[in-house]
Amino acid sequence: MARIAVIPGDGIGNEVIPEGLRVLRHLDGKHGLGLTFEHFDLGAERYLRDGTTMPPEVMARFRDEFDAILLGALGDPRVPSNVHAKDILLGSRFQLDLYVNLRPVRLLDARYCPLKGKGPDEVDMVVFRENTEGLYTGIGGQFKRGTEDEVAIEQEINTRKGVERIIRAAFEYARAQKRRSVCMSDKANAMRHGHDLWQRVFKLVAAEYPDIPSFHLYVDVLAMEMVRAPERLDVIVTTNLFGDIVTDLGAALQGGLGLAGSGNIHPGKVSLFEPVHGSAPDIAGQGIANPLATMLACGMMLTHLGHPELEAQIQDAVRGNLADGQVTRELGGSMSTKDVTDALISRL
Ligand code: ATP
Repeated sequence: MARIAVIPGDGIGNEVIPEGLRVLRHLDGKHGLGLTFEHFDLGAERYLRDGTTMPPEVMARFRDEFDAILLGALGDPRVPSNVHAKDILLGSRFQLDLYVNLRPVRLLDARYCPLKGKGPDEVDMVVFRENTEGLYTGIGGQFKRGTEDEVAIEQEINTRKGVERIIRAAFEYARAQKRRSVCMSDKANAMRHGHDLWQRVFKLVAAEYPDIPSFHLYVDVLAMEMVRAPERLDVIVTTNLFGDIVTDLGAALQGGLGLAGSGNIHPGKVSLFEPVHGSAPDIAGQGIANPLATMLACGMMLTHLGHPELEAQIQDAVRGNLADGQVTRELGGSMSTKDVTDALISRL
């Protein structure tokens, strides 16, 4: 039994999420998972219609009545402020305390990797990005705004509890998934207060996991190594800002936005899964959006719901689609969103 809240959202979210649901319903029918789905009308259309972004009672329902949330994409040129996206996505991250942003960087087919001489054996990392504090809390201020003397302060929040729980989540994952190592990445040589805390907490937590090799890289070195020698890297844990940046680098290494899924997770509680890409207004409504990132996100959701073997099956099926060129235009194929899904379901 698992209750899943579904928010297709904006743009191509409305095209890829129904395809993800077809895959989930197929697996549910086959394996008797007891999945139930409830759709929520949230996104730009709703905001433009009645001003609603994220009703508090819906957030409370997410917390109390659901095991997972499946989100398509949020973003619409008619809402330049993106206020609805902020309220829905950032609102969920903070109010549901989804402190793990989990971003696998797994290359499923060598031909989509921009690195010379690197293939799926070399590009297989998992990034744990801290998702609730760091530089993205909005704490700070502006002084003498708009004048030549303007001062703008953006403060980075690092709490002992926040740092410890994300580092611990990375080690727990490494142990459960039998991964090779955990790398913590910060900028402690320049950010001497907050990242000194990361250094100390990392050492303390690592000592509790003597079975898992661990090491540290400054984030500039991490970026270089992801490109130069990705095979050195396995599980990576880092701050909110640095995680944001290196996971987009990672998406490029694994074949682009159409092949990247992500989870916003509070282990053991309701968590949110989504493709990494946005609403892609330029191709919305044409039936050509790549649904594979959504499939990978659905796979991550199934692992969260206790079915890791089904995530592996979805990954294998995506691998099969890629190998046979059963992909949409932006990956060099000619299939529609629906046809890609049909091919994938026939593999499952
Ligand atoms: P948003 O404001 O919602 O983030 P965006 O257009 O700025 O939207 P993305 O939607 O992430 O950013 O994508 C950038 C471009 O990449 C899109 O305009 C689109 O051309 C392409 N793209 C993204 N996702 C997909 C996909 N699933 N299938 C095909 N092309 C995609």
